[in-house]
Amino acid sequence: MNGLMMDYPLTLATIFRRAETLYRTREIVWRAADSSLHRYTFADFAVRTRRFARALLDLGIKPGDRVATLGWNHGAHLEAYFAIPLIRGVLHTLNLRLSPDELGYIVNHAEDRAVIIDESLLPLWEKVRPLVNVPTVIVVGATKPVPPGALDYEAVLAGAAPAMDLPDPDEQEAAAMCYTTGTTGRSKGVLYSHRSILLHTLGLSLGACMDITERDVVTPVVPMFHVNAWGMPFSCLMLGAKLAMPGPHLDPASLVDLFVRERVTITGGVPTIWLGVLQYLDANPGKFDLSSIRAMYVGGSAVPQSLIEAFEKRYGLRIYQAWGMTEMSPVGTMGKLPPYIKDGSRSPSEEAEMFRYRAKQGRPVPLVEIRARGDDGLVPWDGQTMGELEVRGPWIASSYYNRPDGADRFTADGWFKTGDIVTIEADATITIQDRSKDLIKSGGEWISSVALECALMGHPAIAEAAVVPVMHPKWAERPLAAVVLKPGTKATASELRDFLATQFPKFWLPDAFEFIDAIPRTSAGKFKKSELRERYKDYQFAQ
Ligand code: AMP
Repeated sequence: MNGLMMDYPLTLATIFRRAETLYRTREIVWRAADSSLHRYTFADFAVRTRRFARALLDLGIKPGDRVATLGWNHGAHLEAYFAIPLIRGVLHTLNLRLSPDELGYIVNHAEDRAVIIDESLLPLWEKVRPLVNVPTVIVVGATKPVPPGALDYEAVLAGAAPAMDLPDPDEQEAAAMCYTTGTTGRSKGVLYSHRSILLHTLGLSLGACMDITERDVVTPVVPMFHVNAWGMPFSCLMLGAKLAMPGPHLDPASLVDLFVRERVTITGGVPTIWLGVLQYLDANPGKFDLSSIRAMYVGGSAVPQSLIEAFEKRYGLRIYQAWGMTEMSPVGTMGKLPPYIKDGSRSPSEEAEMFRYRAKQGRPVPLVEIRARGDDGLVPWDGQTMGELEVRGPWIASSYYNRPDGADRFTADGWFKTGDIVTIEADATITIQDRSKDLIKSGGEWISSVALECALMGHPAIAEAAVVPVMHPKWAERPLAAVVLKPGTKATASELRDFLATQFPKFWLPDAFEFIDAIPRTSAGKFKKSELRERYKDYQFAQ
C-alpha cells in the first residue's frame, strides 16, 4: 500500500553511526590486565572500529562468517562488537570460564573463521588450539611478541584504513551468537539478528527496564562473553552513556574503586558479585562515596531479599532484579515498582511490602509476552499456581543453531519454554520458584529451593547457601541445604532450621545442613547446583 512508512533496516549500523556522530566526545573507560585505567572517546572508538572492519575484510571474512572473541570487558572487545556485524560477520563471544574441551566443541560447532583473544587468555587458547581449526588468531593487548602464526591486534589496526563505505546489513541477518552455559549436555548456540539486537537495545533502555540515558555512566560487570553483557554496551552507544568497564578485575575492591573514580550511575551483574561487594563495604565502613549510583541491576539467579535490603538500608543503593536468559538476548522481566507499591515516604508495613516486591522478578518488559503451563494447561495468574514459564517476543530465539535436539523447547504456536517454574500474579509479576530440575518434590508437594536459599542468605551468619533435592526412601525427595558461613561466625543446623521455621511450612524445612567452604560456581558465576546434586546424590539422612 502506498503512503506507508520507510522500510528502514533495524541494524547495529544505525547505533554505530549515531555513536560516531552524536556523541564524539563521550568516553569509554576500562581497566586493563595490569590494573591501569585506559580511556578514549566515542570518536576514537569509531575510527578504530572502522579500521578493524577493513582489516577483517582484508583477512577474507565473508558475510555470515563467525568471528569469535575470547576476552574480558574492554575497548577492543567493544570494537569487535561492532566491526564484525558491520561487515556482516557474526560476533561469537566465547565464555572464557568454560573448559578447553567445551570451548573446542563450541568453536567447531560454530565453525569460527577467526578468533580475537586477550593476551592473558593465550594459555587457555593453547589448550583449545589442538582441538580446533581456526585460520586467523588475533591477540589483543600484546605486551610481548605474539605466538607464531598469530597477529597483533594493534598492528592489524595500524595497517588498515578505516572502512567508510560499508553497505547496511539486512536486519534479519545474524549479527551475534552466544552459546548457553547449560549445566547438562553440550552448550547450544543462540543467534541474534541485527533486528533482534536493535529492538532489545530499545527495550533495555526504557524507563521500565534499565532506564539508560546520555547522562549515565554504566559499568557492565556481567562479562561481554555472557549474552552481550546483557546488551548494556549497545544501549550505551545508542544513547551516548559513558561506559566504564572492569576488564578482568571483578574483585570487590577493584569494582568499588571503578564506581568511585568514574562516578558510575548504573551497573549490573549476577548476585554472587554483589554478595562479595556487600561484604567488602561492610568491612570498610564509611570509606567509599557511592552516591553516584542510582541503579544496580541484578539477575541471572534469584536475588535474596536480604541483599536488596542491606544495600538500600546501609548504603542507600537500589537493586532492581531482572530475569532473563541467553535465549532471550537476555532481558525478559524487570522488577521496577508499579505505582501501587509505595515508594518514597512509607510506613514500615509499606516498606516491607516494597522489599517483598523487589525480591520477585518483576513484570515482562514491553514486547515480551508471558504465560505459564502446568500439568492441566495454562495456569491462572493467581500468584499461587506453579507452572513452566513460556515466553515470546522479537528478541527471543525461535530455534537453536544447528541443534535439532533442542526443538522440544519451542512450542508449535511460537512460544519458547524457559524451563523455569514460576507463579504469576494478576498484574503479571512473576516469581521464579526454581529451574524445573531443581524443584524439590517431597511426598507429592513442591518445595522451592530458590525461596529457601534466599531466606538462608538473610541469616546473619550465612555468606552463601544452595538447596538441592536428595533422594529419600519415604518422601521421594527432601531438601538438603549446603551453607557457607561468614568468616568468624557460627551456626548450627538446628538454629538454621528454627530460623527458617518462622517463614516456611514445616515440610519445607531442609532435613540436612552441610557446612562447606564454597558453593561451586558455573562459568557465569551462578551457583552450580548440578555439582552439589551430584555430590550429595547418595546422601543418607540421619534416622
Ligand atoms: P543464562 O541463559 O545462563 O543467562 O541462564 C538463564 C537462567 O538463569 C534462567 O532460565 C533462570 O533459571 C536463571 N535466572 C536468571 N535470572 C534470574 C532471576 N532474577 N531469578 C532467578 N533465576 C534467574
